[in-house]
Amino acid sequence: MVFYTYVAMDDTDSREGGCTTYLLTRALEICRDSGYSIHFIPGLVRLNPNIPYKTRGNGAVVFCVSRGNTGGLDTFTSGAIGEDLVVSTYSYEKCEEFLDDNDRSLFQKFKRLVDMESSYGHDGTNPGLVVTCDNFGISHYIRAVREVYPLEMAFSTLDEKRNTLYHGLGSMRGLVGCIGALGWCQNYRSMGMDHTYEIISYRKPEFWGKKRDVEPDIVRSLDPELPGTFNNYDFVNDKPLIYPNTPCPVLFGVRGNDYRELSRVRGMLDTEEMERWQIFVSNQGTDDHLVPTPLEEINNYGSVITEGTVQESSFTIKGGHVFLKVADGANSVYAAAFEPTKNFRNIVRALYPGDRVRLYGGVKGDEKEADAPSKGMRPALADGFVKVINLEKLEILQKTTKLTKISNPICPGCKTMMKSIGKGVGYRCRKCHIRSDEEGASYHVFHRVLVEGKTYEVDGVAMRHLSKPLVRIGKENGKKLSEIDFFNN
Ligand SMILES: [Zn+2]
Repeated sequence: MVFYTYVAMDDTDSREGGCTTYLLTRALEICRDSGYSIHFIPGLVRLNPNIPYKTRGNGAVVFCVSRGNTGGLDTFTSGAIGEDLVVSTYSYEKCEEFLDDNDRSLFQKFKRLVDMESSYGHDGTNPGLVVTCDNFGISHYIRAVREVYPLEMAFSTLDEKRNTLYHGLGSMRGLVGCIGALGWCQNYRSMGMDHTYEIISYRKPEFWGKKRDVEPDIVRSLDPELPGTFNNYDFVNDKPLIYPNTPCPVLFGVRGNDYRELSRVRGMLDTEEMERWQIFVSNQGTDDHLVPTPLEEINNYGSVITEGTVQESSFTIKGGHVFLKVADGANSVYAAAFEPTKNFRNIVRALYPGDRVRLYGGVKGDEKEADAPSKGMRPALADGFVKVINLEKLEILQKTTKLTKISNPICPGCKTMMKSIGKGVGYRCRKCHIRSDEEGASYHVFHRVLVEGKTYEVDGVAMRHLSKPLVRIGKENGKKLSEIDFFNN
């Protein structure tokens, strides 16, 4: 018999040099030293990317340990802490037991870890910690990844549970991420949901904050060598994506569809000696945040897939941000390709009025009274609330034919040029009185670079953690969240 205990942490890392996943590997050390074993792979769960008060990255971590005897279960290596391997079992199930004194003492140890090692007090960090033997439904995850999960609801959810201990600092907003991560981690397998993996390696403390040895050539070779990995290198902007830009303990992170393939990364990159490494299971690259939504129902802070017709050609504002007005009947939104999306902006600029498009992205409306995080970057409009979709992907459903007239029709009788008899009405020869319709004129047909039916994505450097890269389409590890009947779970 195996007894499972889940541990979740969030919002511990907004400080430069902090890192929630690093704190998780510290927690794994505590578990190892307390005689617990790790079940499957720890989770790195990304939540609603549009919430204004998120911390950098907005990722909660969660893992499952057991205090029972795991002898006889098949195991594999999912990480290492110094010389010690992190041994994971394959089993991974729902909780069926009560918290006992061992769990309570484990909770006290994690509490000390969060109090001592989180970056509380720096830059609005509000850490949360949950240790639980209760089950959290998928609805908690859905709310946390797609909507605004109220903090009061997080407290009432936790207080209703019988076998749950929690701790937080500041506003304790990190508890929302903990609940979302538990809802995902306890259900994604049984519900057959798509998921990905990431191997993260950490630097020895003496290297923290120092420049990383970046190896563009080797990173470029990861794509062909490990075909299940993605977002290793941005070939358009010629930039490796596996190294963070912050002075945090992370050496590199490589994402992929198969955790067995990810273990090979360590042997391929010729880096400085890593202090520890860990493979995570994740909702990164799944598009779980996107909800198919008609244009008139778009709400602030959601993430949508919606359709409409381009109303006006794009315009570029100061800073190089490109905006495009898209409408469906009486309702309209702005689709935005911000400067960091780089070459993707040229796709938006190549759209013409009349093109039908499907838009994928997060909604950050600019409400005058709200503290919108990027004020001054939006088109200034008089009508107050402006819905802006921060584009992640764009699909060309139907493109219009753009024409410019080169000349009026030539009269078949006298071979002179006919005159227009009014806009949209046609032409007539003054001498012979022969008439022609609009189609009789000659036109230049603009060459359209955009391909009908094709989906375009932002450049790798600008891709969000949750966005599914186009290379993953057809390689998913399960169903899309939108295809799951979660009301029955
Ligand atoms: Zn004529």
